Amino acid sequence: MMYRHTIIKGDRFLSVMHARMRNNCSNLNSDLCNNHLRDDPYCDCVEVVEDAEHYLFQCPKFQRQRIILLQSLQRFLPFTTSELLKGKTELSYLDNCAIFSAIQLYIKSTKRLLKLTIHVHIVDFTHALSAYQGSNIFVTLLSFCIQLLM
Ligand SMILES: [Zn+2]
Repeated sequence: MMYRHTIIKGDRFLSVMHARMRNNCSNLNSDLCNNHLRDDPYCDCVEVVEDAEHYLFQCPKFQRQRIILLQSLQRFLPFTTSELLKGKTELSYLDNCAIFSAIQLYIKSTKRLLKLTIHVHIVDFTHALSAYQGSNIFVTLLSFCIQLLM
């Protein structure tokens, strides 16, 4: 139980990003497009859909981080995308905790999901303040917040 507590507590932001990828509501372009928050699902590396499989296994932008991820999970290879995100049923709880920790370290080291989180928050924030356009104080506040997030 101590391990369970430790893993679940962990880094809340990374746990949330991990859960969002499992539930197809992450900030990857494919999920954003499917959820009507973006027009196209493509990665900016090539004209290919940026889904969890591309992010975890294929995107050339994260080759260095991927090597570290797969080396740390070498004893559990091979993985499907689903197994990497949800764990393997034939493995123990602690082994699956190790997989979860490794994938969250990958999420942290790529910084990919953080970048679009900021983008989405700015879009949401801009949208929320649209009713106040023309009011200088809100334009100033919005500019200030965007500078903080950049
Ligand atoms: Zn890519």
